Amino acid sequence: MPELPEVETTLRGLTPHLSQQTIADVIIHNERLRWPIPHKLPTLLRGKTILSLSRRAKYLLIGFDHGTLILHLGMSGNLRVLTSPTPPDKHDHFELVLGSGAVMRLRDPRRFGAVLWHQGDPFTHPLLASLGPEPLHDGFNAQHLYQATRKRSAALKLVIMDNHVVVGVGNIYVNESLFRAGIKPQLVAHKLSLPRCEKLVGEIKATLIQAITMGGSSLRDYVNSDGKQGYFQQHYWVYGRAGETCQKCGTAIKLLKQGQRSSFYCPVCQK
Ligand SMILES: [Zn+2]
Repeated sequence: MPELPEVETTLRGLTPHLSQQTIADVIIHNERLRWPIPHKLPTLLRGKTILSLSRRAKYLLIGFDHGTLILHLGMSGNLRVLTSPTPPDKHDHFELVLGSGAVMRLRDPRRFGAVLWHQGDPFTHPLLASLGPEPLHDGFNAQHLYQATRKRSAALKLVIMDNHVVVGVGNIYVNESLFRAGIKPQLVAHKLSLPRCEKLVGEIKATLIQAITMGGSSLRDYVNSDGKQGYFQQHYWVYGRAGETCQKCGTAIKLLKQGQRSSFYCPVCQK
């Protein structure tokens, strides 16, 4: 599943190709994504110029003077820029044809992604309006996490994955950050001390920055790719390593189900 670092890398890959481009055409091959792609998009966007490209949580925002195209990659989506004509395959659902002649194409085999239109301020869209701070912004800090966890008796891992607390810290990155911070995923959230909030916030930021930096090396894949570029393979301390030995202490990594998601942790290194 594309997580925040992949979405950030996608944004950085698309920006030089899309910025200030005029939309020549909008092609909807299959409207049936998580929500139907609005039929009016071709009429709304033809001849309009892309003024801004940004990201909020895992949403990509393509800004025009009369509204914003909001894209989400869902479980399996990717966006590519094609500079020479290539016939779409059955998983290619949506295309922006640019004035340059290039095409931005959304491929999404599982169709949990989204292409939405919002007039006016995109941050007032119902999907974006109540989101917590960005993990890499200053608003996500020890004090924020400390306050956000005081009344929460759920497991800390689930609270970190709650988009109202902080956005975009998906399953891989929360598992890795908790290991790096030495905190067990099942810790009752309100028991996290302020110094441990500080440690965890630092590790979440460091883990995400590392992943984004690694993703930068795959930017060329966003042009003329065959669409099979994977999400980056990284070195993980615990994620996906149940039963293998902890690289710090040699103990077997444990697997735990929390909220239908897998948690991986070292019972010795994480308290
Ligand atoms: Zn260990």
